[in-house]
Amino acid sequence: MLIKILGSAAGGGFPQWNCGCNNCEGVRSSRILARPRTQSQVTVSSDNINWHLLNASPDLRQQIQSDPQLQPGNHELRNSPIRSVLLTNADIDHTLGLLLLRESQPLRVYATDFVRGLIKERNAYFRMLEQFSGQTEWQTLTSHSFVDLSGRDDKFSSDLTAQIHSLGGKPPFWAQNARQEEDIFATIGVVLADKKTGGRLGFFPGVKEIDEPLLDILKTCDVILFDGTFWDDEEMPRLQPGSRTARQMQHIPISGPGGSLDLLSKLPVGIRKIYTHINNTNPILNEDSAEHRWIQGEGWEIATDGLEITL
Ligand SMILES: [Zn+2]
Ligand SMILES: [Zn+2]
Repeated sequence: MLIKILGSAAGGGFPQWNCGCNNCEGVRSSRILARPRTQSQVTVSSDNINWHLLNASPDLRQQIQSDPQLQPGNHELRNSPIRSVLLTNADIDHTLGLLLLRESQPLRVYATDFVRGLIKERNAYFRMLEQFSGQTEWQTLTSHSFVDLSGRDDKFSSDLTAQIHSLGGKPPFWAQNARQEEDIFATIGVVLADKKTGGRLGFFPGVKEIDEPLLDILKTCDVILFDGTFWDDEEMPRLQPGSRTARQMQHIPISGPGGSLDLLSKLPVGIRKIYTHINNTNPILNEDSAEHRWIQGEGWEIATDGLEITL
């Protein structure tokens, strides 16, 4: 399995257009040692030819433009090696890219019914993905199910099987008034297994809490891409009083008791652990920071755009 991290920032990217925080101002002016990042996007392939997207970033056009393998073949009109998109939730930074794929390209989209309902029924724009019958073929993901990744009509089948793990949570902020209650299908994580190589990737960019079932599934992975959105719970309110905390935004912070660094220290050594989906306010983006050095010392990596992994 080939894994490409095309974007490693949380919603807003890094730097974020309207942000003058220490990180954003610092990276714009080169005052700090940090790398700009586009909004979270991963793509996987088992044959190096056909690609499957994990979520669909608002920066997808730029990300495709930066990688020839994701572009149409020579002299081929209206073609793409992108065969499917798997959605982990309905957040704007994970789904807006679908609209960038609206130009009559046959596509398979994997999502829970909950996520599909939010996207399709509440956003007229998404009718652009249904311009003709079968343009977009939605495939339902259910809890603890296994699904083989392929393109529309089961074409371009891969060696990759996605194991679905429900993480629960609330609908995204834009759909807040849709349903207030928590739903086990609001956010999922996936473990992708390559049937040929046996390699296993855990993709968990949005996690609100770490419980035993999650730890059990993470233990089965060779590499995990994990929610590194916020360093601490008060990161946003500190910057902008009145903002929601990390946990209120359904993201477990990295640091502190009950943070991901603490709880995932129980994972066996040998699992490659990579924080991704990093918010522009997170001090780990500054490569000279104590926080950056600290998590490296704990055996974690920090995803950067362009990082490639073979499993
Ligand atoms: Zn996000
Ligand atoms: Zn910022």
